[in-house]
Amino acid sequence: MNILDKTKEELIRELRELQQENNSLKTLFNDISRLKKTEMALIASEIRYRSLFESAKDGILILDAETGMIVDVNPFLIDLLGFSHDQFIEKFIWEIGIFKDIIANHDKFLELKKKEYVRYNDLPLETKDGRIIHVEFVSNVYLADNQNVIQCNIRDISARIEIEKELIKAKVGAEESDRLKSAFLANMSHEIRTPMNGILGFAGLLKEPNLSGEKQQKYIRIIEKSGARMLNIINDIISISKIESGLMEVNISESNINEQIEYIYTFFKPEIEGKGIQFIFKNHLPFSKAIIRTDREKLFAILTNLVKNAIKYSEKGTIELGYDKKNEYLEFYVKDSGIGIDSHRQKAIFERFVQADISDEHAYQGAGLGLSISKAYVEMLGGKLWVESKKGIGSTFYFTIPCTIEVMRSDGITNSTTNDVMEPQVKHLKILIVEDDDTSDLLISIMLTEISREILHAKNGLEAIELCRNNPDMDLILMDIKMPVIDGYEATRQIRQFNKDVIVIAQSAYALTGDREKAIEAGCNEHLSKPVIKNELMSLIQKYFS
Ligand code: ADP
Repeated sequence: MNILDKTKEELIRELRELQQENNSLKTLFNDISRLKKTEMALIASEIRYRSLFESAKDGILILDAETGMIVDVNPFLIDLLGFSHDQFIEKFIWEIGIFKDIIANHDKFLELKKKEYVRYNDLPLETKDGRIIHVEFVSNVYLADNQNVIQCNIRDISARIEIEKELIKAKVGAEESDRLKSAFLANMSHEIRTPMNGILGFAGLLKEPNLSGEKQQKYIRIIEKSGARMLNIINDIISISKIESGLMEVNISESNINEQIEYIYTFFKPEIEGKGIQFIFKNHLPFSKAIIRTDREKLFAILTNLVKNAIKYSEKGTIELGYDKKNEYLEFYVKDSGIGIDSHRQKAIFERFVQADISDEHAYQGAGLGLSISKAYVEMLGGKLWVESKKGIGSTFYFTIPCTIEVMRSDGITNSTTNDVMEPQVKHLKILIVEDDDTSDLLISIMLTEISREILHAKNGLEAIELCRNNPDMDLILMDIKMPVIDGYEATRQIRQFNKDVIVIAQSAYALTGDREKAIEAGCNEHLSKPVIKNELMSLIQKYFS
């Protein structure tokens, strides 16, 4: 039918139908293009996921959630664990044996798959070459391609764990050193204050009127003992300072070690047996063959210190002292059945100012210097010092020294603390005491009264020079070294320009190697370290005037 033959109504109806058809076509086209877009988006997201998977800096492992079979693994995990791609794919996760604990077998896998989300902050994994590394582990179950999969994300945290360990170690070390510092300060304070307490306390008590002669003597003995203890601490501090500043010298001579051991045995026997402890010694070589070249003073100091410690830290059993010959070394030992030393403190006790018991539970006397001095001496003599000990059982300290050693320079300083009274054999000397400290001046004046006809006093080097110039008949000068205006060295130098005969004895409180040489160089005849011991002073004076 021609369009012109159609009625107006028919035409409107047909137009409406056509319009409807057009719409559905449009919808169809729209739907097709939407589908295409989704597909494209899926492909794009798949590509994006894949590239993330391939380039991730964490390990990723995809498992079939039903069977536990590995379906995918990323290159990072392959590198991290050292297995090849094929060694992972289509293997059951527990078969490759990387997990030491979780997923180590099929049952463990069943436990894992029950949970949607699992996290471990620090999990050990075993690499192909048997190394254990630490990882952070997260697993999620999700649906992919109609299949439930488990994605395991594995982050290597070994470096972080290592740093954490180092930090913890450093923290523990810092806390330990803080405790040691406090223990050292408390210990030094205790070690110095205790004898000072004895000295000042009993000196005060001596002033009390009507004190019986017996009590006086008792208090004086306590003051002397406390003074000697104080001097020991100071000597130890000076020895350690000399060692640390490289000023300690080695003085080699021939020495019979059996004689030394026997002397120490005889010296300490009464004290040890007085504590109810048995004391034995064992000499390996016959007396006539026990002569070696060494620094006898240092060897004596080491042995004495070890025996003193054995006595201090033992209440029962036996102390044994001896030596064996091991090739070209002599190996000395001091063995006790005392309190022993915790294995973790056995290294530290050789450090200066360190004691095994830093909590000071037992409050033993000591500044923690003896062993560090002994160790330094042993090393100067070419040997080694070590300990074998068990807490509660006892300790054996060993040290070696070579049988012969090269002769080195000598250090002539000797310090004796004997105070037995010696009868003066010289008298009527004209003496000048040069001293800026009143107490020291008084002490020397009292010591010298009985051998003097006149005592003059100077408070510094300048006064000393003047007094000497005005008194050419002066016999003896006691010259302090450290003084204001002009020191003792300079004063002696100037006195020597006009008086070569007067005997000058220098006295210094430094007790350092080199003091003596400096004093002699300045023109002094002798040198004494403070505290001045009367007998020592007298024997020096007698050497020049008897
Ligand atoms: P101290 O003056 O404290 O004795 P040392 O340097 O001689 O100093 O010794 C250091 C520490 O070693 C002592 O404080 C003690 O804890 C331990 N020590 C040394 N010798 C012995 C020993 N024979 N038995 C047990 N502990 C010992």
